[in-house]
Amino acid sequence: MRIRLVAAGVLSIALNASGATLPIFDSHLHYSHDAWEQLPPKAAIEILRKAGLKAAMVSSSSDDGTQKLYAEAPDLVIPVLRPYRHRGELGTWVRDASVVGHLEARLKANRYVAIGEYHVYGADADLPVVRRVVELARQHKLFLHSHSDAEAIERQFKQDPDARILWAHSGFDSADKVREMLRRHRNLWCDLAFRSDHASNGKVDPAWRAAFMEFPDRFMVGTDTFTPERWHFVVEHANWSRQWLADLPADVAERIAWKNGDALFGAMLKRP
Ligand SMILES: [Zn+2]
Repeated sequence: MRIRLVAAGVLSIALNASGATLPIFDSHLHYSHDAWEQLPPKAAIEILRKAGLKAAMVSSSSDDGTQKLYAEAPDLVIPVLRPYRHRGELGTWVRDASVVGHLEARLKANRYVAIGEYHVYGADADLPVVRRVVELARQHKLFLHSHSDAEAIERQFKQDPDARILWAHSGFDSADKVREMLRRHRNLWCDLAFRSDHASNGKVDPAWRAAFMEFPDRFMVGTDTFTPERWHFVVEHANWSRQWLADLPADVAERIAWKNGDALFGAMLKRP
């Protein structure tokens, strides 16, 4: 009974004006090596389809995970190239020159829309390996998916003022700071992955509402499956997103839900 009630509640808010479920572009997923066995590619894709996703941006430690999902569903999965070859490189990659050869080889072999998601903070963004990543993105016309503080974002833009950066988790920064950054950088976009401070009980926080209304073209949502268990939240995250997005004007909600991601990265999808 409880399930039926929950489902009815979700349905009533998930439908848009035309009566269809709001599609979701999930901009922040990982399919890393420790997920492959518990959740084989077919099962992972099944979850993404069950969530009603329009597209899924996936980066993985190692990139083989991304390639497995992309092979399974090129109409749904958008590959992003992660510098990490396995779990545990998150804090060391910025000083590991072997990352560069790995990225170059992958860029030769496959197609991607971005390099990331990688973690870099403060002055580390000016280390040679990170500089090379920014250069590779420029050469290959790719976005950078950067999990960083504002300072590391600034430093990357200083290296390449034409860089295009998707700021993972909006830097876990405040709505006001995020707005300030968006005003300063026309090539900065923000994902809202793994944060919940922008909305509660289907109501958008006022400071975040101001940010979404000022920059309706620069935000997107994401689950962040940083551990295998997180895959079980993909459907819940999509439904939760539909719930709070319904508190925004319909055109703004649609852009944040999927149109922004689709406009930037959708060309990569093999549409039937
Ligand atoms: Zn992540």
